[in-house]
Amino acid sequence: MDFHFNEAEKKFRAEVEEFILEEMLPGYADKDLYWPGGYGAIGEFEVRDPAVEKLREKMGERGWLTMAWPKEYGGGGRSFVEQAIFFELLSYYGMPGMDVSTLISGPTILRFGSEELKSEWIPRIVKGNLKFWLAYSEPNAGSDLAAIQARADIDGDDLIVNGQKIWGSGAHVADCGWMVARTDMAAPPYKGTSLFIVDNKSPGITMRPIVNINGFHSFNEVFFDNVRVPKKNVVGDMNMGFYYLMVALDFERLVISMGGFRRRFEDLLNYTRNTRRNGKLLSEDARVRAKLAQLATEIEIAFLLYYKTAWMMDNNLFPNIEASEIKLVTTLLSRKLADAGMEIMGQQAQLWPGSRHAPLSGRFAVGYLDSISAVIGAGTSEIQRNILAQRGLGLKRK
Ligand SMILES: Cc1cc2nc3c(=O)[nH]c(=O)nc-3n(C[C@H](O)[C@H](O)[C@H](O)COP(=O)(O)OP(=O)(O)OC[C@H]3O[C@@H](n4cnc5c(N)ncnc54)[C@H](O)[C@@H]3O)c2cc1C
Repeated sequence: MDFHFNEAEKKFRAEVEEFILEEMLPGYADKDLYWPGGYGAIGEFEVRDPAVEKLREKMGERGWLTMAWPKEYGGGGRSFVEQAIFFELLSYYGMPGMDVSTLISGPTILRFGSEELKSEWIPRIVKGNLKFWLAYSEPNAGSDLAAIQARADIDGDDLIVNGQKIWGSGAHVADCGWMVARTDMAAPPYKGTSLFIVDNKSPGITMRPIVNINGFHSFNEVFFDNVRVPKKNVVGDMNMGFYYLMVALDFERLVISMGGFRRRFEDLLNYTRNTRRNGKLLSEDARVRAKLAQLATEIEIAFLLYYKTAWMMDNNLFPNIEASEIKLVTTLLSRKLADAGMEIMGQQAQLWPGSRHAPLSGRFAVGYLDSISAVIGAGTSEIQRNILAQRGLGLKRK
């Protein structure tokens, strides 16, 4: 077993880093308060920035947004390890790029979609100018997605969609919903649910903002009132959506901004090297050093898991159990990193971005609140442990 990047991967890493450093949007990394593992402070979920769109298109032209996709579908034909390197570096430098469409919807379409669906949607995703939002959760269906009530009834060549979704992150700045709804109310949900794409501009869709714990408009409540969706937008087979949804959720759980963890950890480490308390550098304090050493170890473990999942994909092994493992480990790490920062930096760390006394630009204050969302979105930690107990350990379903 070799844990090192090979020469080609090292060369690619250098190429990506050069591209990012050249193309970095001035000021973007300072403005974007994204916290690794979190969901609630992603700049792209708040506003659609033309500069970001342009950069995404540039990345799309290089085939980098979809680099592990087959060339026949406009992808880069590269490995998942290379894709993981790209994503790691993007998140290290705090740059936008891959998103729901390239990391979740696109791979699911490629796996299950008809050729017609692929030819309609894949080229737009490859180019980087199509944004999806995830329309799964409902007021009474979160962890238990089998309880969804939104329905889509067949009417000729269309589906007529009615119901309500909630917590739709970035729905208000997206082009399309990636939606699940019941298409056979008489069948059990796992045999009567379909997954389909709905255009945000369709008549009958109403969105209401939900402001998150950080004060950002990242979520939405979305209402569907007799919304017409062409039947050809259904992914795979009708009524098989629950199965595709489980795979799409695994894709989502594998989206980890590992570089972001490394970057924020380095910020904290440098802070302790440059800040004195009672005349002594924080980095000389035994408790601070122990905390940093623990975090560094856990980040290293997460890195190994991150590249293991990419390696598995390259070897045609779908990381189903690993998706839950990495989601569980990294989202708890997201919390621990924010907690450690608050403890080490003390009261001032609570100051919000914009305050001139806020250490590290107030990022840890945002992160402390945002990391709460990390352990909830894409299935809570409790749900990941349930999955791991059942699928990973083979324990009987309770
Ligand atoms: C920041 C953020 C972004 C999100 N973005 C989206 C989005 O874009 N699209 C979307 O569709 N949804 C989104 N969600 C919703 C998210 O998927 C749900 O919040 C999540 O699945 C939990 O569902 P719930 O909120 O209904 O909580 P519930 O399912 O009601 O859970 C409440 C508590 O009970 C626990 N629990 C529930 N069932 C079990 C069980 N069987 N065993 C043990 N414990 C259990 C949970 O772990 C949790 O602690 C987002 C959520 C957050 C926080």
